[in-house]
Amino acid sequence: MTQDLFRQDGYLRECEARVIRVEEAGVVLDRTVFYPLGGGQAGDTGQLLMADGRTLQIADTRKAKDAEGRPTEDILHVPADGQAERIAALQPGDLLTARIDWERRHRLMRFHTATHLLCHLVPQPVNGCSITPDYARLDFHMTEALDKETLNAGLAALVGAAHPLNVGAISDAELDANPALVKSMSVQPPRGTGSVRTIRIGHESGSIDFQPCGGTHVANTSEIGRVMVTKIEKKSANTRRVVLGWAP
Ligand SMILES: [Zn+2]
Repeated sequence: MTQDLFRQDGYLRECEARVIRVEEAGVVLDRTVFYPLGGGQAGDTGQLLMADGRTLQIADTRKAKDAEGRPTEDILHVPADGQAERIAALQPGDLLTARIDWERRHRLMRFHTATHLLCHLVPQPVNGCSITPDYARLDFHMTEALDKETLNAGLAALVGAAHPLNVGAISDAELDANPALVKSMSVQPPRGTGSVRTIRIGHESGSIDFQPCGGTHVANTSEIGRVMVTKIEKKSANTRRVVLGWAP
C-alpha cells in the first residue's frame, strides 16, 4: 500500500520515496505526493528524480490493479513514452525524489474546490464529475434550467468571502446514518478503513459545503481565484451540465 501524503497535505510538491516494484504499467513507490485519477479528478503528472541523476517523466497517475482488475491501494506512476532504458534501470529499494507538476496540480485543486462551491449553489444530486487542468464539469440530476449569470455571481461571492477549508473524517456508521451527505450519485466514498475523509468549507456552524471527498483542494476559497461558469448544457432530460473554465 502506497502512503498517500497528498491526503494529509495537498500542498506537498515533492517527497523522498523508495521503489516498491516496477510493473509494465508503471512504478509503485512506498509513499507519494502524486494523486491517482479518481473521484473525477485527473491523475498528477511530474518527475521521478533518480539517484543516478536521471529523470523519469511521469505522464499520469493511477491506482494499481490486482489480478482481477480491481483497484488496489498501490499508486502507479505511469511514465511518458520513450523512457524504456530509464525504467529498466529502476530497482526495488531505490531511493528517489517524486515531484509533481505543481502549476498543473494547483489548477486541479482550484477547480476541484470550485466544484464544491457549485454543490452549494446547486443543491441537486451530482451524477457525473470531471476535473482537468483546463476545465471542470459537473452534471446535476435535475430538470430545471440553470442560469449562468446567477451561478457566476454566487461563485464570485463565495470566492470573495475567503471561506476556509478543513479536512476531517467521519465513521462509516455516521455516514450510513446521514446518507444525504453523499452528494454524488456516481462516486461513492471509499470505505473499508472504518472512517471516511470529509471536506468542510466554512465553519462547523453554518458550513457552506460538507461532504466525503478524497481529492485535493485549496485551503481557502479565495485561492480559487478567477474561475467562472463558461457553459451550461442540457445533457439529457434529467441532466444539466455546468462547465467551469478560467476567466480571462
Ligand atoms: Zn473534493
